[in-house]
Amino acid sequence: MSHPFSFEIQARCSQTKARVGLFHTPHGWVETPRFMPVGTLANVKTLTPAHLKDAGAQMVLSNTYHLHLQPGEKIVAGAGGLHRFMGWDGPMLTDSGGFQVFSLSKINTITEEGVTFRSPHDGRLINFTPELSIQIQNELGADVIMAFDECPPYPATREAVVKATERTKRWLERCIKAHKRPDQALFGIVQGGVHADLRQQAARDLVEFDLPGYAIGGVSVGEPSALIEKIVQVTTPILPFNKPRYLMGIGTYREMAQAIAAGIDLFDCVIPTRLGRHGAALVQGERWNLKNAQFREDFRPLDATCPCYTCQNFSRAYLSHLVRAKEVLGYTLIAIHNVTELIRFTQRIRESILNHRFAEEFQFWLTSTDAEATLEDDEIDKRSDH
Ligand SMILES: [Zn+2]
Repeated sequence: MSHPFSFEIQARCSQTKARVGLFHTPHGWVETPRFMPVGTLANVKTLTPAHLKDAGAQMVLSNTYHLHLQPGEKIVAGAGGLHRFMGWDGPMLTDSGGFQVFSLSKINTITEEGVTFRSPHDGRLINFTPELSIQIQNELGADVIMAFDECPPYPATREAVVKATERTKRWLERCIKAHKRPDQALFGIVQGGVHADLRQQAARDLVEFDLPGYAIGGVSVGEPSALIEKIVQVTTPILPFNKPRYLMGIGTYREMAQAIAAGIDLFDCVIPTRLGRHGAALVQGERWNLKNAQFREDFRPLDATCPCYTCQNFSRAYLSHLVRAKEVLGYTLIAIHNVTELIRFTQRIRESILNHRFAEEFQFWLTSTDAEATLEDDEIDKRSDH
């Protein structure tokens, strides 16, 4: 095997920076742009791998932080790796745990060495380092693994963001040294908060490592949505054109459409399954609460144009009944639809780029709702990526 990873650009949009690509991994290819469902604890909540295949999922995420705490990477490795453990034979990606350590855990100390925090399960102290994150991800065995990064909160002082961004770069060097498996691609993560110059410097620093793919992290941490679009717009032109670009934790229609227009290829978000567990369906750009009275006697499918199992077989009234009765099947059926819906949204964008109709067909989503938002820097590098 020469190199198990490659990224082909198959088409480009003439009006935006959107592109259509094919990302090859040891477990198959991913057509981009593409939404990736999140299986935090080695399962996409309420869905089986068969549901995911039917929904059009090609690459699925899982999480290093959560799997380290439960059941532990040794058990996953003992099962033959994450693909076999969870019964998913397609491409997989594991997040490094950086985001979760900084957002979910009770942090004890952050030092150059790593982060010490208390396990939310038994209170024991855990020391997460770049080396440990990579060692765990090597044992889990996903196709794409992520560098361990320091994710500053929002808002944060510029000084704090500078420190976190510089540390993320030094931690990346340690991740690269610790990484032992050539059948796994290590992606770097651009940090830099809402500061355009810090984002751009971080991207330039990352590119020097010539990685197989690049991610933009530290977004969707509480900043206005329009800032995410601007962060993506100033960062992507610096990332290599011929490598996959992944915007972490993003999965709303508007944010995905705008990021695709700026040249992003991959997305992930827990939103479709989380909404499903709250009885909310994503239908052609809207969010419907199926507990609402209007659905009780509505015998139409959620979306007559949707090919998913839920829309082909069940009515809004039935889903409303299941959700009101708190039946688990209701959450599964809505999650099947929601995951299908977001994947289809990125598939439809992919087709529109191929047909040279992206800017027209998705104009509604490409128009920003909050044009006033500006990044906290005006020395924005306007170099283009070609
Ligand atoms: Zn559906």
